Amino acid sequence: DDEDLNLLDSEGGPDERPAPVILPVLAIVGRPNVGKSTLVNRIIGRREAVVEDKPGVTRDRVSYRAEWAGRDFTLVDTGGWEVDVAGMDAKVAEQAEIAIEEADAVIFVVDATVGPTDTDEQVVKLLRRSGKPVVLAANKVDSPTLEAEAAVLWGLGLGEPIGVSALHGRGTGDLLEAAMNVLPRESAHGTARPDGPRRVALVGRPNVGKSSLLNKVAGSSRVVVDETAGTTRDPVDELIELRGIPWLFVDTAGIRRRVHQTKGADFYASLRTQAAIEKSEVAVVLVDSSGPLTEQDVRVIQQVVDAGRALVIAYNKWDLMDEDRRRYLERSIERDLVQIQWAPRVNLSALTGWHADRLVPALDTALASWETRIPTGKLNSFLGELVSAHPHPVRGGKQPRILFATQVSSRPPRFVIFASGFLEPQYRRYIERKLRETFGFTGTPIEISVRVRE
Ligand code: GDP
Ligand code: GDP
Repeated sequence: DDEDLNLLDSEGGPDERPAPVILPVLAIVGRPNVGKSTLVNRIIGRREAVVEDKPGVTRDRVSYRAEWAGRDFTLVDTGGWEVDVAGMDAKVAEQAEIAIEEADAVIFVVDATVGPTDTDEQVVKLLRRSGKPVVLAANKVDSPTLEAEAAVLWGLGLGEPIGVSALHGRGTGDLLEAAMNVLPRESAHGTARPDGPRRVALVGRPNVGKSSLLNKVAGSSRVVVDETAGTTRDPVDELIELRGIPWLFVDTAGIRRRVHQTKGADFYASLRTQAAIEKSEVAVVLVDSSGPLTEQDVRVIQQVVDAGRALVIAYNKWDLMDEDRRRYLERSIERDLVQIQWAPRVNLSALTGWHADRLVPALDTALASWETRIPTGKLNSFLGELVSAHPHPVRGGKQPRILFATQVSSRPPRFVIFASGFLEPQYRRYIERKLRETFGFTGTPIEISVRVRE
């Protein structure tokens, strides 16, 4: 089918979408109130990140798709973390540590009008240890007279402090340019290793049973001790043999570390979740079946779909199931997951181990679908039949015709359809439904785009 693609290109067809690269991650790190969120707003050019004068603003989005000078990257905003006054330094450091771990490069923001504080020094140590590239932003340099304050920050030993005013935009272009110079083109987390073990993310909201399931599948010999964050460094990814085949469970440190019991927990959880999904090929979203689906469950599932990863939904705590619970659960699934009926479902109990052996077959199915390629000939004869059985409705005397279709990539499958006119959303959904009926795609999102050719 590569030949088909070349043919298309020479005909002026679609640019082939390259295999999905994992965008590099740029994290903005610093103490509360130094202006991180203001800087994020400045970079993404929106007012999406909430900025308030008081610390402790909660928000549910922590990373943004951003672009600068033609470069795409993921921007991680660590502003708005909940920080209580007692033990603040430790918390800032802990939060910074997670963000740094997930990042490919860091912008470290310091308030130039305050100068370096002990907390800043602590973060500098973490940055050094991480070996990640760092750009030092001396913020609140609202005018040239304040540049002298910025120069004091040379003392942090991170190289040249770049004086900026996140609020007014002063110097932010230079800052971003410096960041782009050190940010790799592709995330270090993301390079696909086609011959290596499959990468699995085990995600879900706190307390659904992720660490229990991880322990169960890793074998009872593995004992996990509750540990204070930061005292021991867990390996981030864990190789676990299931049915004789090694699987790489990514980012298990976040699960093992049980950070969700601390303040600002939701924030860590979503940062971890996003990072784990990005690194994975397939995600198992664990939900607690002893209650109905929650908004947060649905959000995590949607995150997986949006990231274009294969998906398995595991309904845990099935040992607690009774008739009432089952009714609530099924009702919420019907209501909230109608669009995602394609995801394989495994009912299990991490506590007793019941049905834990069904996880691997579900992962296999989802991954096989994710990598499916449909030859162009087969795809077009399928579409031919579909169109003759159910043509696009005539609108205003016109009827768009489907000219040609091709699958431009897999992991996940992406299709481009050429048509003589705009295809209605309803008709696109019909095509997707039929594609799934005919070719399976159990466990993978698929993407269909339509190009109109006169
Ligand atoms: P964060 O906690 O690090 O995310 O900090 P915020 O972005 O919420 O900013 C904290 C406060 O500093 C807000 O009142 C901002 O308006 C203010 N601020 C941020 N950047 C600048 C700047 O460049 N100059 C000045 N004068 N104030 C700023
Ligand atoms: P995590 O926050 O997602 O890692 O969740 P944990 O694995 O820490 O589990 C949260 C709580 O749910 C713990 O008290 C577990 O013992 C309990 N739990 C986990 N799996 C099951 C299960 O299958 N059945 C029951 N009844 N409880 C479970």
